[in-house]
Amino acid sequence: MMDFEFNNDQEAWRNEIRGWIREEFGEDWNGLDVSNDEEGSDEAWEFSKGIRSKLAEKGWTAPAWPTEHGGMGLSFAEQAIFNEELAYHRVPGPDLISVGYVGPTLLVYGTDGQKSQFLDDIVNSRASWCQGYSEPGSGSDLASLQTRAVKDGDDYVINGQKIWTSNAHRADWMFALVRTDPDAPKHRGITYLLVDMKTPGITVRPLINMLGGHGFNEVFFEDVRVPVENRVGEENRGWYVGMATMDFERSALSGSAALRRNFEDFIDYLGESPAATREAKLGVADTAINIEVSRMLSLRVLSMQQGGLAPNHEASVAKMFSSELSQRFARFGINTMGSYGQVRKGDPYAQMKGWFTEQYMSSVPATIAGGSSEIQRGIIATRGLGLPRA
Ligand SMILES: Cc1cc2nc3c(=O)[nH]c(=O)nc-3n(C[C@H](O)[C@H](O)[C@H](O)COP(=O)(O)OP(=O)(O)OC[C@H]3O[C@@H](n4cnc5c(N)ncnc54)[C@H](O)[C@@H]3O)c2cc1C
Repeated sequence: MMDFEFNNDQEAWRNEIRGWIREEFGEDWNGLDVSNDEEGSDEAWEFSKGIRSKLAEKGWTAPAWPTEHGGMGLSFAEQAIFNEELAYHRVPGPDLISVGYVGPTLLVYGTDGQKSQFLDDIVNSRASWCQGYSEPGSGSDLASLQTRAVKDGDDYVINGQKIWTSNAHRADWMFALVRTDPDAPKHRGITYLLVDMKTPGITVRPLINMLGGHGFNEVFFEDVRVPVENRVGEENRGWYVGMATMDFERSALSGSAALRRNFEDFIDYLGESPAATREAKLGVADTAINIEVSRMLSLRVLSMQQGGLAPNHEASVAKMFSSELSQRFARFGINTMGSYGQVRKGDPYAQMKGWFTEQYMSSVPATIAGGSSEIQRGIIATRGLGLPRA
């Protein structure tokens, strides 16, 4: 039985978060005024870091983590409310890769030493992380990855390359999948390591996206030594740890709240614009329904987590739907604005500060990152609906 209603205590928590946002940012806060290509800028990063420190001071970095690891011991429902409120109010939240991906993985698979070192740094906003999975020849077929780690005394020695590594240029640590047994079947020769990004032999090179922003990178490893104690789980069993991280990644909820806020802005814009044609109104109605569906799909994932179940294909459904919706919404927005829809932020003819123009481009990677839509559909068809793997 799924219950999507939040109770009184949970709504009180929502009000507490809203109160903090009002106090901290004022009534008129409408998000940091930078365009998507500037999101990777030093200014935006420093701003986010400042907010993270404030959240850490309040003890709000990881509401759903157990109190012994610096969390608040709250439920997934309260965590979702927290994510929703920050996203809706355009407040940059805790570092998602740290708090949403590697942290929960360490809570399940980490040793006591790893938990006390790494979780403590995360909740106190002292360390940020990046994800070293993809390689030039291994994206969707991740298990074919070739970056090699060979045990040498108390260390693993890594050689190889990762690609599309978001935030590697700023991260203190990377959680990486590396090949430790090249002779084993491909899923069984992989190990999950925690790599200090300051280790000699690591080179990070920027990759610039089509908006001109610097979000992801190439990372090269040349004889990089990682202590064996930084291995998570058993040697050659890292694939299963890595997939648990991916399930956490796909279950991270906040997309529909951000979309809802932008949709409300669009409604305000249309109310005063000749673009509010009959056709536009039909599209608006469809979008409203889709945003609600997206939220419900996210809440289904939440409801499973709440019940102690591990969402898998359900997380794929939610991730795929919300990422594709963000692209449909962007397309609908710029088409509704006609030629003005193509004018970028900063130009006097830009509509809604050029938000849709940028969203049209910045939403493209949403259906690639974290596993492409085709891969999600494959998971839904096989693990969800029981069809045989090809
Ligand atoms: C914004 C962004 C941030 C990212 N951040 C990170 C990060 O921090 N760390 C990290 O490790 N990676 C990151 N990635 C990489 C991402 O995980 C990969 O791009 C993704 O898994 C796809 O891999 P690929 O790019 O190699 O494409 P490919 O796997 O080469 O796929 C190419 C096309 O073929 C399709 N395809 C492939 N296999 C199948 C199949 N079996 N069935 C049907 N269609 C298929 C795909 O859907 C896609 O359309 C990021 C990517 C983006 C866009």
